[in-house]
Amino acid sequence: MKKIIRIAYLPQTSFFMKLLDGVATSKLIKQEIAAAVLEMKAAGKKVPHLAAVLVGNDGASLTYVGSKVKSCEEVGFHSTLIHKEADVTEAELLDIVQKLNSDPEIDGYILQLPFPKHIDEHKILLAVDPKKDVDGFHPENVGRMALGLECYLPATPAGIIELLRRYEVPTEGKNCVVIGRSHIVGLPMAILLQRNGYPGNCTVTITHSKTTNLKELCLKADIIVAAIGKPEYVTGDMVKDGAVVIDVGITRITDTTKKSGFRLAGDVHFESVAPKCSFITPVPGGVGPMTIVSLMGNTLLAAQKRS
Ligand code: NAD
Repeated sequence: MKKIIRIAYLPQTSFFMKLLDGVATSKLIKQEIAAAVLEMKAAGKKVPHLAAVLVGNDGASLTYVGSKVKSCEEVGFHSTLIHKEADVTEAELLDIVQKLNSDPEIDGYILQLPFPKHIDEHKILLAVDPKKDVDGFHPENVGRMALGLECYLPATPAGIIELLRRYEVPTEGKNCVVIGRSHIVGLPMAILLQRNGYPGNCTVTITHSKTTNLKELCLKADIIVAAIGKPEYVTGDMVKDGAVVIDVGITRITDTTKKSGFRLAGDVHFESVAPKCSFITPVPGGVGPMTIVSLMGNTLLAAQKRS
């Protein structure tokens, strides 16, 4: 397995900080997936097919879905985008989900969340066939993950686990603080980090908006996973020397100097935190690309199981 290590020596500290490069790592994984698709083709099997259901015209959702479709092209998958207006009804969405469940061409599909407020996301999610739930959000997959059974892992935590694995970041016996308890990032991340295996075997503390001593907990952490959605919330004074810091946050901040009118900020204040770290993910270019590539991995798995 090829390793990509970028090391920066930072004069403020005696540590060698390694950047966990999600762009380079995801490129490698895409090459591996593309090779597996070619093998499937050569064996006369159908290529994996991912569908995405997008509702409305939220800028971030459009960007995320666009990246997923582009990644499908890069690895040789077929993709289908079902884009509905924001006033779509729950009944119409349930109908789309049923059709995707029974379509033999579709190996897996995702519901690009959030949906507009008049749609009960849980109701739609529960209708997804767990075998095609490549986002790993269906309760059956969440339950199987918690029990350590075969399942589709949610893409963002799975991508982080893969990044830790590929960089051989030590995790056994480490104190880990996960900031955030969302069902798509914080909670599954905590479950995966405490699993008996590698990466895993961490002693995990889950923190959330009602936690009163976040700084105190973070200062004891060997590994911090920040999934809060508050730009640059984790600062250098909250992190101990040699810590591993995974920044999941992506917030668009207005920036008139950029052509797009915004810049992306993580949940970690990189300038003050990075000099203290043994490993850190950048934003952009850390967790984001790993999330997409994990979705591709789940889709490949779904197709291999069906063929
Ligand atoms: P969310 O809003 O669902 O959850 C945020 C969590 O942070 C909550 O559990 C809340 O209790 C906790 N929180 C809020 N304030 C806190 C505080 N002061 N101290 C401790 N915990 C606090 O968000 P989410 O969906 O988990 O996403 C979090 C961030 O990650 C967002 O910026 C999102 O855009 C980003 N994200 C990135 C990727 C990726 O691929 N890089 C994927 C998913 C989410």
